[in-house]
Amino acid sequence: MKYTEIMVRYGELSTKGKNRKDFIKQLGKNVRAVLTNYGDIEVKAQRDRLHVDLNGQDDKPVIESLKQVFGIENFYPSIKIAKTMDAIKETALEMVKEQYSAGKTFKINTRRQDKSFEYHTDQINNMLGDYILENVDGIKVNVKNPDIEIRVEVRMNGAYLSSEKIKGAGGLPVGTGGRASMMLSGGIDSPVAAYMAMKRGVKIDMIHFYSPPYTSEQALAKAKQLTSVLAKYSGGIQFIAVPFTEIQETIKEKVPEGYLMTIQRRMMMRLAAEITKNRHCTGIFNGEALGQVASQTLESMMAINDVTSMPVLRPLISMDKTDIIEISKDIDTFDLSVLPFEDCCTIFTPPAPKLGLTWKSHVNLSSILTLMN
Ligand code: ATP
Ligand code: MG
Repeated sequence: MKYTEIMVRYGELSTKGKNRKDFIKQLGKNVRAVLTNYGDIEVKAQRDRLHVDLNGQDDKPVIESLKQVFGIENFYPSIKIAKTMDAIKETALEMVKEQYSAGKTFKINTRRQDKSFEYHTDQINNMLGDYILENVDGIKVNVKNPDIEIRVEVRMNGAYLSSEKIKGAGGLPVGTGGRASMMLSGGIDSPVAAYMAMKRGVKIDMIHFYSPPYTSEQALAKAKQLTSVLAKYSGGIQFIAVPFTEIQETIKEKVPEGYLMTIQRRMMMRLAAEITKNRHCTGIFNGEALGQVASQTLESMMAINDVTSMPVLRPLISMDKTDIIEISKDIDTFDLSVLPFEDCCTIFTPPAPKLGLTWKSHVNLSSILTLMN
């Protein structure tokens, strides 16, 4: 069946009261952005739904792209036909036959926008139901939980039929939740955290610290590649590479071994906060998860967080590693993340990092930081 349009149902945004208009506008913009390469496609973001008019273009790549746009609850590839009962009957029958096998049940679900159409909703449901029962051997009606549901919409400009409901990505349209930085390493966690930030509508800029020659060109390339994989959810992400070698070498020279990791992370956080502020963004996301490694305890986070008053957001904070890995596979970042290139954090990893609160009694941290400023 050749679809002519895709009807998109909004997600959570329909409950957002006065922001609703902005959400719809942003979603329209995001959908247009992901579909720009697929030819002459028209996107109309209306009050209650969004319509993608395919203008004869192939529906498959469009469907795949729409699955990745946040703010969409689900969508229905539809076919536009003449507004006559005969045409509606024939198309509905064809749609049922495409999906029918012995024992399956069906339901007709009609909406009528054109109140001047000669039949009302119940009449259309009954006429179509009867027609299908007459023409498909053994099929039964099930209104509560049908295997096949044919949706009919009688609009002003034609009748639209659909039988396939595709689940959208959920969340909120990227761009409606403000703009923030994402500290992106080459690991498994931070790309997943980035995905979760975007899912809540946040437009992110990536900040990646790299330390040549200790880190390879491939490590930097990997972070960039992860960014382009994630860009399909956002329609473009800025990538900011921050050279970190000199700072790391200074830390190595001046800081006692047990504190290298904490100090290095504090420096990263300071720089990230400064960059974020300069770009007029309002928060820093990272991929920390509680208890995952020695440097990710509450104490350690407190010690690192101490350098900025900017909100530091950790979408993965209470997640299990196995669940994080599952998401990273779903969003296509896992295979890249596990490529074995050194991250700049691993270069100076001491054998047993000291945790947040212990340093207070041993080292005067502020004097070390003054030395490095
Ligand atoms: P990931 O899988 O995201 O690397 P991880 O479990 O390996 O996380 P760490 O290496 O301790 O954890 O890093 C914690 C967080 O610090 C990362 O999730 C990321 O947000 C940030 N981070 C680490 N290395 C870098 C880097 N080179 N550039 C930018 N941010 C980094
Ligand atoms: Mg890491």
